[in-house]
Amino acid sequence: MISERMEKLLNEQVQKEFYSAYLYLSFEAYFAGRNLDGFAHWFRVQAMEERDHALIFFNYINQVGGRVKLQALAAPDWDFHSIEEIITKQLEHERLVTASIYNIADHAIEERDHKTNSFIKWFVDEQAEEEANAEQILSKIRLVGENDGRGILMLDAEMATRVYVVPAPLAANNQA
Ligand code: MG
Repeated sequence: MISERMEKLLNEQVQKEFYSAYLYLSFEAYFAGRNLDGFAHWFRVQAMEERDHALIFFNYINQVGGRVKLQALAAPDWDFHSIEEIITKQLEHERLVTASIYNIADHAIEERDHKTNSFIKWFVDEQAEEEANAEQILSKIRLVGENDGRGILMLDAEMATRVYVVPAPLAANNQA
């Protein structure tokens, strides 16, 4: 069993991960509207990964005898004006998610909840990667410049190569 407080934090995280998927689909829609199919594809894959993150928390809550309580999702922004604006929002959002993951890790330690402490470690590493990805894309956009059509098309082609991979904790769960 997990504590009531931990159950609440994990349920809030399910909501945050689904919201991330929703936000990234909104980014995809912006890029699709500008015919930047590589960026659109990259954010579709990112949205799929966020849904997977939500499902990993969902599975874990069930596994430890908690009760999943799905929360409402707010409508994400949709009125964007530049690639840099979107990637900046992505980075800010991932930093919020990181803080939320750290909060779960802090509570797990405080409650001597070793199961959750072990479970959350994958997400601590994952968040480091998410922030690094966003920072890297942001620096490339700034380097190329929003108005350099050739540069943007090259970046778009690079973004198109991203391949969706089922996150390890979910793949492991599906095999069980
Ligand atoms: Mg996530």
